[in-house]
Amino acid sequence: MMRVIEIFYSLQGEGMLTGVPSVFVRLAGCPFRCRWCDTAYAWDYSAGEELDPAAIVERTGQWACRFVVLTGGEPLIGLDGAVRPGFVDLTGCLKALGKHVTIETSGNLFVPDLTCDLLSISPKLGHATSPAFHQTPGCDPETLCRLIAAYPYQLKFVIESPQNINEVRGLLRQLPSVDPDCVLLMPQAGTREELRAKATMVAELCKEAGFRFCDRLHIGLWDTLRGR
Ligand code: SF4
Repeated sequence: MMRVIEIFYSLQGEGMLTGVPSVFVRLAGCPFRCRWCDTAYAWDYSAGEELDPAAIVERTGQWACRFVVLTGGEPLIGLDGAVRPGFVDLTGCLKALGKHVTIETSGNLFVPDLTCDLLSISPKLGHATSPAFHQTPGCDPETLCRLIAAYPYQLKFVIESPQNINEVRGLLRQLPSVDPDCVLLMPQAGTREELRAKATMVAELCKEAGFRFCDRLHIGLWDTLRGR
């Protein structure tokens, strides 16, 4: 059983599949507290409704849509720090129905046996650290190496200032042969206004470093509205 905050139909807002109509399954709970997190309502592991994998799969079927995004919170990590019970089964059930499965994760836990078409990893840079919370997500190069060796992936970095590119480069130097085409930089923004203010700075960094620019389509279209 897993606790589910919301299941909704929208367009993928970030990454290589930006603009693709997708069903989003937002699971409850995250062990981290990123300073600028835009889904703080999904931090609590006891929030939402308890559903088993079959019920989640059934609800995703209400839309005739092949693309499913498992997100959170941190969908991979359960309350005890291990993989969320039922999660691996959920990915297998979705794939058995022919779904394209994207999993969003901070990249802090290696989980074998996932059935996953795209592991969307967003390693957290130093600026994610909240002064009021001591458990930072951080970046564990060893875990990232295992994840990118095991699954089709993209690496999405949230960028707040031009200096952040040094941290990105430092991390990438610790990983073997990452395809620059799989590295995306996206502006740190919770509102349409913030997105506009930082987009040009991030675009210039992408040009300089040879990484992809990652828009945040959902913020541009719907600003701070949930479930869109
Ligand atoms: S890991 Fe993701 S869900 Fe958790 S606090 Fe950070 S941004 Fe929010």
